[in-house]
Amino acid sequence: MTTLLVTHPAGLDHLTPSGHPERPDRLRAIDQALEDERFQSLARELAPTTTDETIALCHPPDYIAEIRAASPASGLVRLDADTAMSPGTLEAVLRAIGGATMAADEVMAGRVENAFCAMRPPGHHAETARPMGFCFFNTAAIVARHVQKRHGVERVAIVDFDVHHGNGTQEIFWSDPTVMYCSTHEMPLYPGSGAPSERGAHNNIVNAPLRAGDGGDKFRIAFETVILPRAGAFRPDFLVISAGFDAHMRDPLANLNLVEADFAWATRKLMEIADASASGRIVSVLEGGYDLQGLARSAAAHVTALMHG
Ligand SMILES: [Zn+2]
Repeated sequence: MTTLLVTHPAGLDHLTPSGHPERPDRLRAIDQALEDERFQSLARELAPTTTDETIALCHPPDYIAEIRAASPASGLVRLDADTAMSPGTLEAVLRAIGGATMAADEVMAGRVENAFCAMRPPGHHAETARPMGFCFFNTAAIVARHVQKRHGVERVAIVDFDVHHGNGTQEIFWSDPTVMYCSTHEMPLYPGSGAPSERGAHNNIVNAPLRAGDGGDKFRIAFETVILPRAGAFRPDFLVISAGFDAHMRDPLANLNLVEADFAWATRKLMEIADASASGRIVSVLEGGYDLQGLARSAAAHVTALMHG
């Protein structure tokens, strides 16, 4: 079976202030790594745009209108301390969502087994009606609701190995027993949420925080003792991965010490869960990862795992 790679050059047109870590070069680095011969068998698609109706699966219309209205004709407009819009941001955001839901459609139709969406901006900090942490709309959350509402999928698990806690995804699904959100992340660290005691209204939130300095051994223990047993027992019909690579040892924004092989290992373990209850169906969306070399190599290891198990 085939793995789908979704990209779009519009992802390069979301500009951020000078020196900002969430920059267009992130996608250039991933694109370059995935041009290698060993990725020849990937199916490749350009991300289409999306509709407000799809965004509204997770965000209220007045919030969508607020983000659209904030889009500047020139220059940069800041929505919070570290989240800014440039003239190209809205198009990038819409294609990040459109690409991810298209990938889900392809997976649901059985045309590909799984997919990786190399788009930006990321999404997992975006709450129901609040942009934050480089994020505007929550792409992973929208994919989960999309496969439920448009494809009749019952249970979706979202597993997030970005080094930051996905506060937005947790907030959106806090009271939704049909979606399980599982996260490993460094704590304490931005955004401050993600304690194990945060379990959701239906015990559907699973947080396994790590400490600064932890490496692949501690990460794998958290996966094997907490994340994988809970996600597996949930028997998801579809799996979404919030694939941030900022837990890499080279990353400048955090202090975990993962290497490429750890991301590949986690990916293979998640594929086992998807194989067991979801016919292998996975859509993985890029979240963070701010060291270009660590990001590119980790994304390549992740995609290699998706391709070959
Ligand atoms: Zn992050």
